[in-house]
This record gives sequence, structure tokens and C-alpha cells, in this order.
Amino acid sequence: MPSNALTADQRATFQALEAVIAEGVAKFVAVGSALMQIREDRLYCESHGTFANYLTDRWQMTARMARYLIEANQINADIGGEGTSEFQVRPLARVPSERRRDVWERAREGAGDAPVTAAHVTAAVEESLSEVAADTNSVPEDEDNANSGVVDSDLRLVPAVIADVFDQTLFTDALNVLRQLTGVVNQIEGGPWGDMLIGTTEGVTLRNRIQEVRDTIKWAAPHAVCPYCEGSAEFCEPCHGKGWFNHQQWSNTPADIRQRS
Ligand SMILES: [Zn+2]
Repeated sequence: MPSNALTADQRATFQALEAVIAEGVAKFVAVGSALMQIREDRLYCESHGTFANYLTDRWQMTARMARYLIEANQINADIGGEGTSEFQVRPLARVPSERRRDVWERAREGAGDAPVTAAHVTAAVEESLSEVAADTNSVPEDEDNANSGVVDSDLRLVPAVIADVFDQTLFTDALNVLRQLTGVVNQIEGGPWGDMLIGTTEGVTLRNRIQEVRDTIKWAAPHAVCPYCEGSAEFCEPCHGKGWFNHQQWSNTPADIRQRS
């Protein structure tokens, strides 16, 4: 008997603890599907303007993590629900949905009697991708369609070609300037300069105008990759060739088309 063998008590404890972990790790499916429904049905909208804000605020979760979980839930469905953790199935994101089952089988063969790990899955994915590359005469990946790692407000991956558009720094800057402006206007009103602004029609109008500017800036911000052209923008009527939608255009898009992207 090896010297590091566990006692019967230790073994029982070990198994009980592992069961706790297995149960927790397997929750990734339920979490991913809950996140997906909240996103699709915009159930966060009462408290938060975007899904990404909701995630950070409510769950301290990055948009990237949520995307992994949502994607993992979909991947797990593709492999007949056999995945045991988000981390384990994540490498399958690189192969198309219809090939995942085959690649998963290959990973299982690679693992033999041992549990399938992320490393087994990665190896199977690499093998499968290199076969496909050989089959198709190694057509290089279209750079425009390469993923940028950037996500839009609904956590859909943004194609590299329009990734810069989803950098919203300038919109945030503009809204901050307006917030400062409101602060200064408050000071004017509160001081000896305020007479003309308080209790006059023009004074009230000033507030409304600032609000209008704020609304317009928010309205103009990119919200989602265009689901019709998926960001390629070529001859795309719905997005007028820009590759993205603002929040209003996105909200007006039928749900079945939104879910396509
Ligand atoms: Zn488009």
C-alpha cells in the first residue's frame, strides 16, 4: 500500500468535498442559461441601462465572464449536456456548433478512463482545426471576421473591423462634461447670479436643454453589432452600412433576428 494512502475517514471526507465542488461547478449550465434569458428579455432594464452595467453592478461579473458562461451553456447543449464545467468546455467555442459533438467524442477518447479535462478538449480542438485547415487548402482566416475580444452592450462579440466603434470613451467623456455643467449651473442658481435662471421660463428651459443633449448623446452611442450584416456593413440597408445599431434600432429589431447574432 502506498504511504500516501488515505484513511477510510479521509477518503469519505474527500469524496464528500468533491461532491460539493462537482455540484457547484456543474451549475455553470443553469447560470449561463439564466444570464442568457435576462439578456434576451432585457429583464435588467428597470435598474440598468445595459446588460454589461447590470453584470458589474449586481454580480461584480465582467462582461467577458458572462459571455463565457452563456457560450458554455450553448456549447454544453451541443455536446448532449455532458460537460462538467465552463472551463472544460470553453475550448469548443472555437469549432462550429455542428462539429462540437465529434470533437467532444475525440476528447473523451483522448482522456480514456480518466475524466475529460480542458487540456483533452483543447487537444481535440487543435486536431480538428488542423484537419479542417488541410481540407480547405488552408484558407487563411478572414481578418475582418476575426474576433476582436471586444463585446457590445449585449455581450456579442464585435468583429475586429468595427471594434473601435465600441470604445465608448468619448461618449462617457461627453456625459461627464454635462454632469459638470449641471453642477456649475447649480452653483450659479444657488448664488447671487441665479435670479434670471430661477423661476423664469428660460431658466427651466436650460435644464431641459441640458437633459436633451444628454439624451441625444446616449441615443447616438453604438449599442450592438448589426444583426443583419454582423458588422461587415457591406451593402447593409438596416444599419446604413455602418455595421452597428444604436439602442433604439436594436430595440426595434425583431427578437428572432436579434438572437441570430
Ligand atoms: Zn448591417
